[in-house]
Amino acid sequence: MQDTVTLNNGVEMPWFGLGVYQAKEGQEVIQAVKAAIRTGYRSIDTAALYRNEEGVGQAVKEAMEENGLTRDQLFITSKVWNSDQGYESTLQAFETSLSKLNLGYIDLFLVHWPVKGKYKDTWRALEKIYAEGKVRAIGVSNFQIHHLEDLLADAKVVPAVNQVELHPHLTQKELLQYCRSKGIETEAWSPLGQGQLLDHETLKEIAAKYGKTAAQVILRWDLQVGVVTIPKSVRAERIAENADIFDFALSEEDIREIDRLNQNKRFGADPDNFGF
Ligand code: NAD
Repeated sequence: MQDTVTLNNGVEMPWFGLGVYQAKEGQEVIQAVKAAIRTGYRSIDTAALYRNEEGVGQAVKEAMEENGLTRDQLFITSKVWNSDQGYESTLQAFETSLSKLNLGYIDLFLVHWPVKGKYKDTWRALEKIYAEGKVRAIGVSNFQIHHLEDLLADAKVVPAVNQVELHPHLTQKELLQYCRSKGIETEAWSPLGQGQLLDHETLKEIAAKYGKTAAQVILRWDLQVGVVTIPKSVRAERIAENADIFDFALSEEDIREIDRLNQNKRFGADPDNFGF
């Protein structure tokens, strides 16, 4: 399979990347990002909320030098946090993320959550940033179908990506189908259910058949159902384990068995009840 997916504006985004939520600013995030890039990761997912954009930027720069990579070989995502939503404040928040990362441009900038009454103004700001060429693609996160319908009614630019909670207990089939019909790529956050799915018997049984781990099976399932995935770890051995998913393929039957684990169960917040 291809390493990248072509977004609706022609930009190539890696199918696979490193999430750095809760990776501490400073050495923890720096070492994780450097280990990931050394291992072959080309995509890093951060956000203003994670308070580690400076470390991510520093690590990416150091890793580019150490591994002989150029900026265009890497794909960096960040997000505007809820308290910064609105037109002017999003423009400012973007500049802050851009300067903290200090990598010249951001590849993908997302609206972190659909904050009621604000996300359309936030989106207009992202459209401006995009038109100015400061970001290669813009998208949203945690948008349900009704949020997307509402956004698309006024949007000039169709979001390239919708990053949502997605894992074997929350397969998001309807949303995935809807996004696909609009040309919006779906990206999975908490793909491993924050680590809580790794002891699941069915996943362990499937993993044993392929000589893989439950984590690898879930991440491979993401790719085969057409979802970009960004597992998080700060441990070098797990970072390497999670990336080792390109040398096997799950059978159709195993894909369906994993699909059947759906319980519409969230480990994270519900976008319709987030208490904004
Ligand atoms: P995840 O599902 O990626 O699970 C991460 C946890 O699983 C790790 O902390 C570790 O404890 C464990 N783990 C990882 N690999 C392992 C392995 N091979 N073996 C055993 N345990 C392993 O959870 P996540 O961090 O919530 O999600 C991934 C990324 O998605 C985040 O880092 C962040 O970038 C993004 N995210 C986005 C949003 C959003 O609102 N847009 C919300 C949450 C997370």
